[in-house]
Amino acid sequence: VILKNFVNGFLKESDMYLKTDSISLKVEQGSNAVIIKNLYLSCDPYMRNCMTPVDNNPDYFPTYPPGSPIEGFGVGKVVESEYPELKKGDLVWGVTGWEEYTLINNPQTLFKIQHTDVPLSYYTGILGMPGITAWAGFYEICAPKKGEYVYISAASGAVGQLVGQFAKLSGCYVVGSAGTKEKVELLKNKFGFDDAFNYKEEHDLNAALKRCFPEGIDIYFENVGGKMLDAVLVNMRVHGRIAACGMISQYNLEHTQGVHNMINVIYKRIRIEGLLAFDYFPQYAKFLEVVLPFVREGKVVYVEDIAEGLENAPAALIGLFSGQNVGKQVVVVARE
Ligand code: NDP
Repeated sequence: VILKNFVNGFLKESDMYLKTDSISLKVEQGSNAVIIKNLYLSCDPYMRNCMTPVDNNPDYFPTYPPGSPIEGFGVGKVVESEYPELKKGDLVWGVTGWEEYTLINNPQTLFKIQHTDVPLSYYTGILGMPGITAWAGFYEICAPKKGEYVYISAASGAVGQLVGQFAKLSGCYVVGSAGTKEKVELLKNKFGFDDAFNYKEEHDLNAALKRCFPEGIDIYFENVGGKMLDAVLVNMRVHGRIAACGMISQYNLEHTQGVHNMINVIYKRIRIEGLLAFDYFPQYAKFLEVVLPFVREGKVVYVEDIAEGLENAPAALIGLFSGQNVGKQVVVVARE
């Protein structure tokens, strides 16, 4: 799947195309490179930001060069290796190409998958980049205390569903918002949120938040930005914390929306801290020690939305921006 050109405005299928070609991939002896067969690819909102060059993103992912395969996180199987730490047949997750096979020149960026008693696709989600994001963002940045009031936007997605369940395990009162009735039901009945609302049906977000949090919000896990952030700022409690994880409502806009209620940061002494998942990749082993038992013991459940075949990957990615996905959006390229 190739990016045709840099993207303006909302991402569309015509911004990408599928190319079928037979190319010979080879790892040079002593090159340290590996070839992986891609099994599961992850659709992540940040990928839209890699399709438009921006001025000032030194630590973010590099912009995709038009004419090249799209890159993103995925799970693959090593089919050839000149890298001593990986051998043929090993399963890995990390950044790969949206193609059937990918030559990886920097295999030290890949994580070798050691635990296969859980679904392999989980390494695109709960046990991969979104999982680390939820774990670091919630436990480290939000520093939760039992009984605190937690609000999560885009709550049924790859990251949000985990943050909500972590917050419940920490003894917090948890409310999430999502864009359909089905997702709101999922939040309450599957993920155990205390309450949830459909933000698309609320013409006054401030009033919706006041209804759900009459005493205010201690922790906001920010996935959406724009008007949502503005409404939250008014409803924060003194010494509240905001983990600025994502602002998906802004990614397709040519001019990002201003936020008007920032003065509350002063009045309420709010701490807002941004996070980038890969800062926490060195803590992957520590993360697994916490989250893998949650999965195995059923303390945390995970909902995925599976698209079959690379040809359906562009639509799956675009669907993130209209809320088509219910849970973590995964694309299956091959199952083994
Ligand atoms: P999701 O699985 O939650 O998918 C995106 C969801 O966002 C959609 O399903 C949709 O759900 C919602 N959405 C889309 N457009 C809008 C909009 N205009 N306003 C409100 N909601 C919208 O994605 P992830 O869980 O993977 O990512 C969630 C956020 O976390 C994103 O902002 C992402 O960029 C960020 N992120 C940041 C990371 C970091 O390192 N900082 C790492 C990973 C993710 P709905 O139906 O509810 O509208």
